Amino acid sequence: MTERENLLNLTVVDAETRVAAAMLELGQPSYRVAQVVRRLWEVPARSFADMTELPAALRAALDERFELPRLELAVEQLSTDGTRKFLFRLADGEAIEAVAIPDGNRVTLCISSQAGCALRCAFCATGAMGFSRNLSAFEIAGQAREMRLLDEPVVVTNIVFMGMGEPLMNWKAVSGALTLLNDPRALGVGARHITISTVGILPGIVALGERPEQFRLAISIHAPTDELRRTLMPINTKYPLSDVIAAAKVFDRRVTFEYVMLGGVNDGIEQARALGQLARECGAFVNLIPLHPGGSQGFVPTAANEISRFARLLRDRGVEVAVRKSRGIDIAAACGQLRVERMGRRSPRPAEQHSDVQVA
Ligand code: SF4
Repeated sequence: MTERENLLNLTVVDAETRVAAAMLELGQPSYRVAQVVRRLWEVPARSFADMTELPAALRAALDERFELPRLELAVEQLSTDGTRKFLFRLADGEAIEAVAIPDGNRVTLCISSQAGCALRCAFCATGAMGFSRNLSAFEIAGQAREMRLLDEPVVVTNIVFMGMGEPLMNWKAVSGALTLLNDPRALGVGARHITISTVGILPGIVALGERPEQFRLAISIHAPTDELRRTLMPINTKYPLSDVIAAAKVFDRRVTFEYVMLGGVNDGIEQARALGQLARECGAFVNLIPLHPGGSQGFVPTAANEISRFARLLRDRGVEVAVRKSRGIDIAAACGQLRVERMGRRSPRPAEQHSDVQVA
């Protein structure tokens, strides 16, 4: 038997072409093409058998030719604040996480782009577990597709690439996933409501800037000097802060700086001044992120009043700043925590040992 083609790993236009060719071969009227395409992402079907608007024989014929793979929901946790965390098992047994965060009329879905991560940021649970592999475009966008297939479907309004992995180390698949997330005939999330968060992978920032859609860029700064940043984020050796700031300045849309507050490490007055200076240079918006309790070994969260003081120092320098709410504290919602709990840690391996790590 020939291998079935995964229709979900194609753009909608390409999938449409494949389905149209199959319909022609099967002697089916052309309106059947639109019926199938609609059930790929927009109103997703669990399987071809689920497409009851098609004759049974046609469903079976499509199933012989094409695949509509699912991400298997292995664990779901619901926080008292409404945050829902999902652990998905992939076909090869890898596990990835997505977190749905409701806020008023919005639901933001935080998605993963890699199984594990090679970058070993000192404060991150995913970094501690090491890198397994890149996700494919369908495995990335599929996390949002699965939200529509829940017994009580979740309508995702915003997407952030802040789950497991560094999205710009897997640019080809992430770029394909961005198309699927944004395409009105797929998941239809507006480009301005989709944020790529990166530690500052420069070729990836350039590639993202070349896309015509207004996708948003967030850069994990986490320390305002090279000296401190190197100790927290080993990638700073390859892409130093000054280069990352230069890239942020020329990015043609407003950039957000992410800054996790690590008690006694990066939350002093001097650091607030230095961060304020960098943010002003780039016209960046700053998000201060309280450290998730239990999310990382060897660090303690900055006290809430200290975070407020840090935010005030930034505002005094004319920087726009927000303090993020810590969500899902009772369900281990920080990136990588659920997988670490369920599957245990593995020794991190350096990025250069991973043949399939792509730098844009
Ligand atoms: S913070 Fe992001 S880039 Fe750093 S180790 Fe964690 S997942 Fe990787």
